[in-house]
Amino acid sequence: MRALMQERQLLISTLIEHAALNHPLTEIVSRNCDGETVRLNYSQLRSRAAKIAKALIALGIEGGDRVATLAWNTHRHMELYFGVSGMGAVLHTVNPRLFPDQIEYIINHAEDRVLFFDTTFAELVARLRPKLKFTTTLVVMTDRAHMPAGLEDCLCYEDLVAEQDDELDWPQFEETRASSLCYTSGTTGNPKGVLYSHRSTVLHSFTACASDGLKVSSRDCILLAVPLFHVNAWGIPYTSAMCGAKLVLPGPWLDGKSLFELAAAEGCTMSLGVPTVWLGFLKYLDDHPELDLSRLRFDRIVIGGSAAPRAIIERLHEKLGAYTIQAWGMSETSPLGTIGNLLPQHDGLTLDEQFALRAKQGRVIYGVEVRITDDNNRPLPRDGKTSGDLKVRGPWVAAAYFKGEGGDVLDDEGWFATGDVASIDQQGFVQITDRSKDVIKSGGEWISSIDLENAAVAHPAVQEAAVIGLPHPKWQERPLLLVVAKPGAAVDGADILAFLADRVARWWLPDDVVFVEELPHTATGKLQKNRLREQFKDFTFKH
Ligand code: AMP
Repeated sequence: MRALMQERQLLISTLIEHAALNHPLTEIVSRNCDGETVRLNYSQLRSRAAKIAKALIALGIEGGDRVATLAWNTHRHMELYFGVSGMGAVLHTVNPRLFPDQIEYIINHAEDRVLFFDTTFAELVARLRPKLKFTTTLVVMTDRAHMPAGLEDCLCYEDLVAEQDDELDWPQFEETRASSLCYTSGTTGNPKGVLYSHRSTVLHSFTACASDGLKVSSRDCILLAVPLFHVNAWGIPYTSAMCGAKLVLPGPWLDGKSLFELAAAEGCTMSLGVPTVWLGFLKYLDDHPELDLSRLRFDRIVIGGSAAPRAIIERLHEKLGAYTIQAWGMSETSPLGTIGNLLPQHDGLTLDEQFALRAKQGRVIYGVEVRITDDNNRPLPRDGKTSGDLKVRGPWVAAAYFKGEGGDVLDDEGWFATGDVASIDQQGFVQITDRSKDVIKSGGEWISSIDLENAAVAHPAVQEAAVIGLPHPKWQERPLLLVVAKPGAAVDGADILAFLADRVARWWLPDDVVFVEELPHTATGKLQKNRLREQFKDFTFKH
């Protein structure tokens, strides 16, 4: 029997309409690329999103066409989030930190018809332009006064907005239609496109609002320190509109000083970012003991994208009284997969025990199923000890890559292999041990490079650490620890090994410690271990 409920489609346009109608005066504060701070509210954001949607229609853009952005966290980029998807086209947020060759590849692969870009990327776009096969319209995201020289024939964003009125009934279509596209940074091979739907995006937003999710609500003022080009800024633009949270957009400035000043000035209650952003933020606080930290009102900080070292979680608690929610996910999971909230039975634990739990990647949330399997795809126990290949499935998990790249990515039961190795405990806490290709296999056992790195960064003289496995004649592989020391710190390898000896099993201790000036990162801030393995392939352990 078919139900008798309304089949209103879950469309992204409904989010901005809801925010404009029910939270019209809630602000979006944006630091734009020219350094100016712009304040607008959801009613104005909706109006400008509708105008840009109408401008796209006037330019001949149709439902399903791809529209690219090369842009920072600004109100104009947010307007495109709603304007482009709302009118039925697909918003392709390009990561400007990729190599120019990769940017060219993905814009051509996506067949983007329009490219919106910030003035910061004028030079990059001028170089890319002759190589773009499908992109016939270029729009600079600025006003007439700031149009960069040499790109006079590009369209100007504010002109497009000024030419339209905001009367628009957003088109209605099936919620399963594509809304946005993000390419995985892919450390090997070409990047692959993940194509999100209106439905997957709206369902994902409900989870971010949920109390056992990221608890986003109309009481929040969110400092968005994760870029809008990094997996839809973890869904926060949509989530904020769903619940009417105030949003603070830092533009291109993600350094400690800029984040501190914005958070203090706007009274931010929540922020999200990768561990590197928080390392920079904490370093800024350390270097400036004169700062009045009582100006910060952070209640919780979401860390994801790479493992959040326990040392960061502890320091955010000690310095700011902020609760760190660790989240695990990937482009293919929209990205929320697991979220690190504790359960009532953990209330009685000591702070030390709670930190240990929060350093895990978090618990399963409704909508994402997880399991771990052995090499033959047989499920392994959820005992918190056994490690296996992490598989996921759910309504906001990818079913395939754009244009079928990479072939079938699901097994017969619909599970997607994440490429991560993890354990899961009885209560659904997931702990990522490694990327499967980064696991160190020593004497038939596994050593977690993530655990070793987290232990090493707890040393007061260590700024950043990476552990890679190198071939070993007796043990097959052994760990090498690479350390970036804090400026001016007097520390040697023996100090660090002595520090680690109290924190990890004896046989996990790295066979050597090498100090380096810096470590290589991917475009989304992850350690590039393949490059490190290449760089140190001729390294020989002393014993
Ligand atoms: P991407 O699709 O580029 O965002 O990369 C996703 C990958 O980042 C995951 O498969 C994990 O390997 C890693 N990752 C994301 N969040 C975490 C986390 N909280 N802890 C450990 N690894 C993470």
